[in-house]
Amino acid sequence: MTPPTGAHIIARSLRDLGITVIFGIVGIPVVEIAEEAINLGIRFIGFRNEQAAGYAASAYGYLTGRPGICLVVGGPGVLHGMAGIGNANVNAFPLLLLAGSSETNLVSRGAFQELDAISLLTPHTKLALRPPSLESIPDVIQNTYRISWYGRPGTGFVDLPADLIKGVVEDAEDVAEAAPIPNAPKGGVEEARLFKIAQLIKSAKAPLVVIGKGAAYARAEGVTRDLINKTNLPFLPTPMGKGVIADSHSANTASARSTALKEADVVLVLGARLNWILHFGDAPKWNPAAQFIQVDISAEEIGRNSGNPELGIIGDIDIVVSQLISALDSWSYPASTPFIQHLSAAKSKNEATAASKASNSKTPMTYAHAFTIIEQTLHSLSPPNDAGIVYVSEGANTMDISRSIFPVSHPRLRLDAGTYATMGVGLGYAIAAHAAYNGSAAEGQSGPQGRKKVVCLEGDSAFGFSAMEVETMGRYGMDILIFVINNGGVYHGDSDDAEAWLELQGKTLEGKSEGGLRSTSLGWEVGYEKIAEACGGVGYLVRTPEELEKATREGFREARVCVVNVMVEAGKGQKLEFGWQASGTEKTRKR
Ligand code: ADP
Repeated sequence: MTPPTGAHIIARSLRDLGITVIFGIVGIPVVEIAEEAINLGIRFIGFRNEQAAGYAASAYGYLTGRPGICLVVGGPGVLHGMAGIGNANVNAFPLLLLAGSSETNLVSRGAFQELDAISLLTPHTKLALRPPSLESIPDVIQNTYRISWYGRPGTGFVDLPADLIKGVVEDAEDVAEAAPIPNAPKGGVEEARLFKIAQLIKSAKAPLVVIGKGAAYARAEGVTRDLINKTNLPFLPTPMGKGVIADSHSANTASARSTALKEADVVLVLGARLNWILHFGDAPKWNPAAQFIQVDISAEEIGRNSGNPELGIIGDIDIVVSQLISALDSWSYPASTPFIQHLSAAKSKNEATAASKASNSKTPMTYAHAFTIIEQTLHSLSPPNDAGIVYVSEGANTMDISRSIFPVSHPRLRLDAGTYATMGVGLGYAIAAHAAYNGSAAEGQSGPQGRKKVVCLEGDSAFGFSAMEVETMGRYGMDILIFVINNGGVYHGDSDDAEAWLELQGKTLEGKSEGGLRSTSLGWEVGYEKIAEACGGVGYLVRTPEELEKATREGFREARVCVVNVMVEAGKGQKLEFGWQASGTEKTRKR
């Protein structure tokens, strides 16, 4: 038997850990690792930019509940890939980044793509290591993988110098094998604290359960549904906590969000941080007297902002919620309290306002009208209960306005710009979702199984960050359906942009005013659908509700990548606001 190379040992270690998919971009010296991995039966998905590959690997980690793997070259590859590290850390997604680097004997001599990646990445990762020898590779990869995953998930980094990748061990027997790592043990809460918290919930006048993406990641949907069904506690999902309990559940307060926040006096927070997404738990959005019970796997999170350490629980949501169900001992929250009445009145009012916006039938279409057509068409082809669609959504207006229009009935079927509000994640996330749900790997799934259509709702600005990944989708035959919601700009896409843009092109509009492009301007009516056509897919340019309905129907059934370029109204003169303002129908529209 020929003694193995470093590249083979690296690929074999990944295979032995149970890895079935690697996201990345090859080049010298990591191409040999990717080739060895493919020979061992691992799927390699090659991207067009490391940034998108990093985003994809982190989302794959979130969807499958185990670290996603990203492989890049050194130097610029690592620098591009850092975007994925930041995104993974801030979202608490598990990611293992492997990068090549220059030969160890050339360090500091100006070698090819030289970068001291360990020094650079140590502050940004849970663990950053360079294996000191070929023999140590399995152990280093295994430990870095485990540490990126156990506890609060984050990033692990392994630096792989070219001489190690190309090196050959003298005796294959000296190289130990990596072994699959079991799920982390789960911790619960001690009796006294559990009793105190159960009493506090029972005594609340206006209790609320907030369900975050930590509950989705923890696969705690079973116990969380039990808790709500047994207690009738009103709940509020965060944007990516949607689906842990179906949006259609009667206890869902999403469309009465402001009322829920203003009145809740005891708030059980399951896997969500009291950060900007939840307005830090602060007044005036929240009731100033609200008491927050945080349940989190990470001790550092307890007591943050309005959280009270005395009421915090460090533990796994799955275990803690089942303990809480026992401690509440068949207690349930009465169905006709003033809080429930206020929530119900706010829901009716807000849902009626949303319905009136959705039926606006002018052309160009409004966002709400376009989303309503897409949703209704998809609904008729695949009702939310079937769990047949994964939604990926980004772009300020697109993400905010679509959030309440597309119901989700199962966890981990909606990905968005997340805690970092990272625009540009969409296409990478879509590829990750396709690999997680439709690849031979389809690891770690729970809930309804089977193929899922990946549907992206992309603002035209957000799409542009990684539009070339449409080629990646085309190359791998991924039947992803992408809607580019095209208002010709960042945020409001002011229609003055059109005039200024045409002017720069040497074309003028009849009776046109002067003025240059604004910072929010993008090209006017850019033919984004042609990117799909150029990459072996199908494109649609749509302006009317009828065209949109037809393109949605055909695009859903299409076996190739499909881009539907949807012309929507530009929001001339509207106010621009930053940050996630609200959810449900009580949103402040970002303009
Ligand atoms: P959202 O964006 O939905 O508000 P965040 O990302 O802010 O959610 O919060 C998710 C939280 O869930 C993180 O603080 C993370 O530590 C926590 N978490 C992740 N897995 C678990 C788990 N198994 N049990 C408890 N908490 C978890």
